[in-house]
Amino acid sequence: MDLFDLSDKVAIVTGGNGGIGLGMVRGLANAGATIAIVGRNVEKTQAAVAEIKALGARAHAVTTDVTDAKAVAAMVEEVVSTLGGIDILVNNAGTNIRKRPEDLAEAEWHQVIDTNLTSAFLCSKACYPIMKSASAGKILNNGSMTSLFASPWSTAYASSKGGMVQLTKALATAWAPDNIQVNCFLPGWINTDLTLQARKDVPDLHEHVLKRTPADRWGEINDMSGIAVFLASAASDFITGTAIPVDGGFSASI
Ligand code: NDP
Repeated sequence: MDLFDLSDKVAIVTGGNGGIGLGMVRGLANAGATIAIVGRNVEKTQAAVAEIKALGARAHAVTTDVTDAKAVAAMVEEVVSTLGGIDILVNNAGTNIRKRPEDLAEAEWHQVIDTNLTSAFLCSKACYPIMKSASAGKILNNGSMTSLFASPWSTAYASSKGGMVQLTKALATAWAPDNIQVNCFLPGWINTDLTLQARKDVPDLHEHVLKRTPADRWGEINDMSGIAVFLASAASDFITGTAIPVDGGFSASI
């Protein structure tokens, strides 16, 4: 038995059209999975689907705002009717508004919490009946180094990412009897559109990350492929409720 084989598995990856999500989509597709790539930007999503199809894998684009419960329910229905089921859910979509607590508007707080945390609850809840009836499922939640640490400008973001770790534990304990494993992964600093903006917003961020990361480099999106396959496959069947750093040693370092 190949512990990492994902042939015949269907995966939803929210925000799978770019950045870390696309790195995870590539890993899952290479392991044989069929992928539903979920995003708001139609062109970006179609380009990602085209890339995955060129690898010889099956992929399907779904345009959805994952903060909208009705849209999430429709997305799950579309995936089941088009691809035949849901074995793996990667809650990856996310955003950030970098402001100190005293400068953050209530609407900005909700925007970040809804995109990063509430969306994971909505998507997980919508997928649960399908995974329960199959007596199997894998849910992967995207945390962050700000699940563990914080900064003056990570008010809503760190709150959402700390929440992802606890949401992971709550879902893991609730759904373990259904043979659904729920785990969180905590990326270190990865080169994406999000962190390109962070480097503009936060002076010296680039150097700070290099100094604190023992691997002495920023991560690239393909560094996220392996954890996706591991947490989505039979290799992790007795692992649930965890939070695994993928950070080049950042969280081990002072
Ligand atoms: P990107 O900006 O490249 O990716 C964000 C993704 O989320 C996009 O694909 C975007 O799709 C999608 N998205 C955002 N809002 C919504 C929404 N409302 N509905 C559907 N999709 C949405 O950045 P990253 O790849 O860096 O971020 C991906 C995840 O990784 C986030 O959760 C982020 O917090 C997390 N992360 C990133 C780190 C890093 O160093 N880069 C470190 C730790 C965690 P679209 O444009 O189509 O809306």
